[in-house]
Amino acid sequence: MNDNLKKSDILVIGGGPSGMMAAYQAKLTFPEKRVIIVERNSEVGTKLMLSGNGRCNVSVRVSNEALIQAANGHGKFLYSTLQQFNPETLIHFFESHGCPLKEEDHHRLFPQSDRAADIRKVLLDCLDEAGVLLETGVCIEHLDAEQRIAYSSKTAYHFNHLIVATGGRSFPQTGSDGLGYQLLASVGLTVTELWPVESPLVSQHPLIQSKVLQGIALKDVELRVLGQKKTVLKHDLLFTHFGLSGPVALQASFSVQQALRIQKSVPIQLDFLPEVAEEELQYYLIHHTLDQLAKMYRLPKRLLAVLSAEPGNWGDRLKRFRMEVSDVRGFNTAFVTAGGVALNQIDPKTMKAKQFPWLSVCGEALDLNSWTGGYNLTMAFSSGYSAGVHCLAE
Ligand SMILES: Cc1cc2nc3c(=O)[nH]c(=O)nc-3n(C[C@H](O)[C@H](O)[C@H](O)COP(=O)(O)OP(=O)(O)OC[C@H]3O[C@@H](n4cnc5c(N)ncnc54)[C@H](O)[C@@H]3O)c2cc1C
Repeated sequence: MNDNLKKSDILVIGGGPSGMMAAYQAKLTFPEKRVIIVERNSEVGTKLMLSGNGRCNVSVRVSNEALIQAANGHGKFLYSTLQQFNPETLIHFFESHGCPLKEEDHHRLFPQSDRAADIRKVLLDCLDEAGVLLETGVCIEHLDAEQRIAYSSKTAYHFNHLIVATGGRSFPQTGSDGLGYQLLASVGLTVTELWPVESPLVSQHPLIQSKVLQGIALKDVELRVLGQKKTVLKHDLLFTHFGLSGPVALQASFSVQQALRIQKSVPIQLDFLPEVAEEELQYYLIHHTLDQLAKMYRLPKRLLAVLSAEPGNWGDRLKRFRMEVSDVRGFNTAFVTAGGVALNQIDPKTMKAKQFPWLSVCGEALDLNSWTGGYNLTMAFSSGYSAGVHCLAE
């Protein structure tokens, strides 16, 4: 036997939110078992630390139904896991471990301290107290399903049960670069097509190309993806040098990507004043100047100055501003990966692979994606919870 062969009952690959939750729950549920979690980076939770601009938008206080609706057509898979672990249980989990959360706009939940590090600390403390063995700087490169051995370049890990929590392939510098999908495909699981989502939108519109709108940030803009399947979203928007960013643009990227598969560009329409009726706007402008309009409706003067040269009336410019989107930025910039391990191969209650009872998959490695406003992390924690609790159960 190889000297470097380490023995585990349960091996977890990936120290992101889903892997850490899975390892902790596995150890709590099966305390006598040896649980090892391996992470290729020198620290766990690299992506978690970047989340919410370092503040970690850890969850969202909405119903299970709303989480299911937001999961881009694959939400049904979440019914069972959300019954086990949902935003309410998540709040309780972090608060009972000394990390109180606060709610912000759009029901987004953050640690009261505004520090992602505090979320990671809770998870690390839990792993430590429960007695999970954590090994960092270990990249699993190969799986031998028959022998139940996971190989890194230096060490081999024997396992009775394997939980794969290797994330997606967006933001590859964080360690989730798609290698996990190769491992899972190598044992016989189907991985669906992968594409970048929660990613900024690229436009060739003259106002974008001339960069006159660059840097303008707006609260609660309504964005409609026009075309066959209409999508209407409302959230904050940022004009950039290449197109549109901010939560509403990121959220639209899934629908835009779908449309871009069949057409070269996708028309979208922006309403900068979704709460203001067009008649009210037109009436206001009869009696007031553009400066007064800017003050009244909290619109940047620069936006109004640029739009005043655009065709149409102010209703067209402010409530039906149209542009074509020609692309969505790639995996290096995208926050999330769409596609992953095909959900029909996974038991939605336990996260076990139906064909391989010794294997579970959780988190973004699954063909699941949603919005970054706390939705993706909730899915990662929730599926990680189910994977850990059920991994050894018959
Ligand atoms: C910049 C950014 C900001 C975000 N902000 C938010 C937010 O505020 N709210 C929200 O809900 N979502 C947010 N997201 C999305 C969210 O962070 C992810 O969906 C979530 O982290 C997925 O968790 P995971 O555990 O499945 O995967 P990951 O967090 O990607 O963790 C997977 C881990 O596995 C490790 N790994 C991969 N392959 C191997 C291997 N072969 N061997 C060993 N280790 C391996 C990786 O190094 C990584 O640490 C954000 C994403 C990004 C990129």
